[in-house]
Amino acid sequence: MGQIRNVAVLGSTGSIGRAALDVLNRLPGTHRTAAISCHSQLDLFESQIEESQPLYAIVTQSDCEASLAWHRRINQLSPKTVRFLGAEAIDDVVGRPEIDTVVGAIVGVAGLQSALRTVELGKRLALANKESLVVAGSLIMGTAKATGAEVLPVDSEHSAIFQCLQSRSAPNELKRVILTASGGPLRDWPLDKLSEATVEDALLHPTWQMGRKITVDSATMMNKALEVIEAKWLFDLKPEQIHVVIHSQSIIHSMVEFRDASVIAQLSPPDMRLPIQYALTYPERALNAANEACVELFLERRIRLTDIAKICKSILHHHHYSPSPTLSELLELDRWSRLEVQRWID
Ligand code: NDP
Ligand code: MG
Repeated sequence: MGQIRNVAVLGSTGSIGRAALDVLNRLPGTHRTAAISCHSQLDLFESQIEESQPLYAIVTQSDCEASLAWHRRINQLSPKTVRFLGAEAIDDVVGRPEIDTVVGAIVGVAGLQSALRTVELGKRLALANKESLVVAGSLIMGTAKATGAEVLPVDSEHSAIFQCLQSRSAPNELKRVILTASGGPLRDWPLDKLSEATVEDALLHPTWQMGRKITVDSATMMNKALEVIEAKWLFDLKPEQIHVVIHSQSIIHSMVEFRDASVIAQLSPPDMRLPIQYALTYPERALNAANEACVELFLERRIRLTDIAKICKSILHHHHYSPSPTLSELLELDRWSRLEVQRWID
């Protein structure tokens, strides 16, 4: 499988950041939490440092007494962790040679600088912070194109589209994308009552547990407007190629329609750990080709049900890992995996 991925989780104390650390804890053989950052939640951050023992830890809010006291105290918890105070340290840490992947989980435009820095350096950006694409989509995607950096979406709808597009064989096959929207906490409210919504009403999201800003964005549906722009930049779409439908259960995360009128959808429970894991482990869906081939063989009664996991594991161990594969390399990998399954049973 190649080398261990060293991941910086920026905004590790937030909803996405905490989910990212949980995913990383479950990938000990392949991924390491190499850096984390918080803004104000110092107690939680201390426990994250103690548990993850990262190489680098940054408190971006440098101007309060508590941050300075924390800086002095943390040395006892994890002496090997290099500590920084102040937002400007993020650029420094993202640039360290040990870091190859950055999870952009800071909320709002404060996440823009680190997202841009990551792609400037040609590193993998697992991006939750949609605001940075809304503000500077052309700059981020243009820079990523120039440096070869991978921008992998963490936002569930965009991860779904990205996954659906893996089955495309040519760029012009895509007709449109269909973003799903839960409708947010106030979906069933009559329009004339919306002005009376309290903070508590707006924060009561029916399907997703998220940070406060994005939950309010969901209540106003601004989140979907931001996501339309995010989709435009990520997938180089024209406005008329982006559609939105309400799907209150949040099980279908988005769909892609191809020129031949077929529609591919991605479905899963509403748990952000799934798109985070996909962005961190991509393109491990080699697994997908191997599994498809195995299921066919099982249905033909040529292997046992329990052989499926064994064969998939063997294929995953033997495939050639490329950190930034092209589409043709991915399709070649798909073909190779299917041949390997055949070879395995021969
Ligand atoms: P949270 O509010 O839960 O977390 C935000 C994180 O950013 C925290 O770690 C916070 O630190 C840190 N932070 C806040 N202000 C600053 C600042 N000025 N400088 C540096 N760091 C700062 O947000 P979410 O995890 O919900 O969302 C993060 C991003 O991911 C947003 O852009 C959101 O739109 C996007 N997203 C979130 C989803 C979700 O399910 N939550 C789904 C899809 C996208 P601290 O807490 O220590 O103050
Ligand atoms: Mg979303």
